[in-house]
Amino acid sequence: MNTQFDIAIIGGGPVGAALALALRGSKFKVCVLETRPANTASNDARALALSYGSRLLLDRLRVWDALHDVSDIRTIHISQKQSFGRAVLHAAEMNVPELGYVLPYPALQDALTDALQSSDVASIYGASVTQLKSETDHAVISYQQDGAEHTIHACLAVVADGGKLLAQQFPPEVRDYGQSALITHITCSSPQLNTAFERFTPQGPLALLPFQNGYELVWTAPHQAAQDMLTWDDAKFLHELHQHFGDRVGEFLTVGKRTCFPLGLRRAPQQVPMPHTVLLGNAAQTLHPVAGQGFNMGLRDAWELAQEILDASPETLGSETMLAAYRADRRTDREAGIRFTDGLVRLFSNDLPVLSAGRAAALTALDCLPFAKKFVAKRMMFGANG
Ligand SMILES: Cc1cc2nc3c(=O)[nH]c(=O)nc-3n(C[C@H](O)[C@H](O)[C@H](O)COP(=O)(O)OP(=O)(O)OC[C@H]3O[C@@H](n4cnc5c(N)ncnc54)[C@H](O)[C@@H]3O)c2cc1C
Repeated sequence: MNTQFDIAIIGGGPVGAALALALRGSKFKVCVLETRPANTASNDARALALSYGSRLLLDRLRVWDALHDVSDIRTIHISQKQSFGRAVLHAAEMNVPELGYVLPYPALQDALTDALQSSDVASIYGASVTQLKSETDHAVISYQQDGAEHTIHACLAVVADGGKLLAQQFPPEVRDYGQSALITHITCSSPQLNTAFERFTPQGPLALLPFQNGYELVWTAPHQAAQDMLTWDDAKFLHELHQHFGDRVGEFLTVGKRTCFPLGLRRAPQQVPMPHTVLLGNAAQTLHPVAGQGFNMGLRDAWELAQEILDASPETLGSETMLAAYRADRRTDREAGIRFTDGLVRLFSNDLPVLSAGRAAALTALDCLPFAKKFVAKRMMFGANG
């Protein structure tokens, strides 16, 4: 087993794998270390809403055509419970074929993993990284595989593990919204083709993402309420959902397996005081899923980092100059994405009458002002650098 790499990516989740694919065929030797054993399907229940901008990046990574389980979003309907005011965004108004897409996390993961396994990147599965250290001119990565300890050296270590490995050493800034997301698949009597719904309620936002014969539901609620919702029988769940969401898609008919995810904002320091190391994707920032920005932003992180790496020489790879340029490239988009998502959660998750009226006015204004709509849609599709 080779123990010297130019770039070691810790975590072969969707963001780490996307970075590795962007580097395939380059002058650098790249490896991905992933805890999951090889050929094991991910059983993660979440569905992801991908932006049109992410589709373009996945196209460039030659992965898009391998994704079969994808539903299109052409309209997004935004409203708030118990109040007037709503905004509707259409793909045609934005001059794009679709505003976004919905697909299961495992489908994305599998397509990226398949592409990686037929590339020149060394994919090391069943490998749990236990320690990362920096020396003067390289990073040292220790991992366990099949009960044995291994060590590799790399000019650049990319931490794309979702945020655990360095969390104790460099604690992230955390905002606990006190909310969990309950996710499941539902069917209903009047589905609206290719239309996603985002409904803000005082408990938290609720999203219906069009997928196959129904919708992927993301229902946000305070932690205990979300746990209680897991225990309801199907009839009660469908009834309560109708009370909460209203009549826009008719009666809710069936509900699939329900799963809960605790939510919060975790923001790691943009620069960790560890030479030859960079944080990527959820390891750098974990966002509330309200605006469906987490993976979309992580993919832009991966794409931009790949461009910096491809421009680097073997001498400058992993240097502070290279990493500072990457951080500068990403600062605006990252900060804007964090502020936008955090602002939405805090502004909309309460029932103060004065705020409710302000929000209704803002949604109406968004609906009536084409430039405002274009600004919001562009941000959601391409980020702040787009
Ligand atoms: C309910 C919910 C809904 C969401 N909806 C959306 C959405 O609609 N749109 C969107 O853009 N985003 C959404 N997100 C966010 C999105 O899921 C994340 O942003 C995305 O998964 C981040 O990818 P990642 O590769 O950075 O991290 P992860 O997906 O966490 O992957 C990390 C990988 O690292 C591996 N790993 C961990 N530790 C180690 C280790 N020590 N050694 C080796 N490997 C390791 C893991 O096995 C995993 O494969 C949602 C999140 C939630 C919770």
